[in-house]
Amino acid sequence: MAARSELTTRMDGARSGLLASGFDALLVTPGADLRYLTGYDALPLERLTCLVLPSIGEPHLVVPALEVPAAQASPVAGLGVQITPWQETEDPVALVTRILGEVSTVALDEHMWAEKVLAFRDAMPHAQQVLAGQVLRRLRMRKSAAEIAELREAASAIDRVHSRMAEWLRVGRTEREVGRDIADAIISEGHARVDFVIVASGPNGASPHAEVSERVIEAGDPVVVDIGGTTGAGYCSDETRTYSLGDPPAEFSDYYAVLLQAQLAACAHARPGVTAESVDTVGRDLIEAAGYGEAFMHRTGHGIGLDTHEEPYIVAGNTTVLEPGMAFSIEPGIYLTGRHGARIEDIVAITHDGCERLNQRPRDLAVLPL
Ligand code: ZN
Ligand code: ZN
Repeated sequence: MAARSELTTRMDGARSGLLASGFDALLVTPGADLRYLTGYDALPLERLTCLVLPSIGEPHLVVPALEVPAAQASPVAGLGVQITPWQETEDPVALVTRILGEVSTVALDEHMWAEKVLAFRDAMPHAQQVLAGQVLRRLRMRKSAAEIAELREAASAIDRVHSRMAEWLRVGRTEREVGRDIADAIISEGHARVDFVIVASGPNGASPHAEVSERVIEAGDPVVVDIGGTTGAGYCSDETRTYSLGDPPAEFSDYYAVLLQAQLAACAHARPGVTAESVDTVGRDLIEAAGYGEAFMHRTGHGIGLDTHEEPYIVAGNTTVLEPGMAFSIEPGIYLTGRHGARIEDIVAITHDGCERLNQRPRDLAVLPL
């Protein structure tokens, strides 16, 4: 969990963002934004928990009375945030409205449940609701050294899982059996939670978000393994490697070489001052030139931090200029429907003069013995 000084800096940054945007207050319910600002990993419940951060004035954390001990045990208690409980028969939305007083614009966290958004709209019919991302996106995108260290730790943990793949990935086993072993290792190698396990063998590898199935892995299958979890500190890992059980088909080897070249080129390009979309273009151009443009149907990557998918997205149209501290995936893929597919994914962090690859596993095609 982030140090108190870092949380204070984030709260101050959010408040400055509110003032600069002309917004009166920020309302944040349980999720990554609340963890980012306060360190409080609250349960997302039907009962309202809400950080009320006015642009001027004291911040409050409105919590159900039964959640007060959990809130007090979290870092939020040391941040000068007033913990304000509500009883079971009280109306917590009215309580938030009373704390805020007259407001004309309130920013809501982007993952707030619709029932709560609409309740706030009804309670404050004259206040315009805007997305908190306008204030929080820039803060969360530019990660501190401590956050990059947490991401590095998450990346090492998932590297250790990939390094053990030959223990589990064998001909004659189903994707689901392999996936279960990988999930256990995600925890034992240093995560608190498994977020996703993709083991896509043979033709299943042509679907970028295939998960696991009862398919039995065969000799000669390429297998896309894309796995990730969340560490105890709350940071996410996400890494893809493509394996082959024995020698793969010749056409597969041909396009894997193209894919590897594209991934390396995109990583080499990522640096401060270039746009997010240019990282996508550099790799995509190589894949298109080799004739596989149609087979690469997704963006090149996504930011990562307290959420697996967050800003900045590495996609055409995103003109965000990369800055030190930004962390994101570089994961081009080539997918041949009905045959097989491949993807190579690393998390990188922008440094002062380039980028650091947080995942360290080799990117060459890993041919596992039969
Ligand atoms: Zn992934
Ligand atoms: Zn990813």
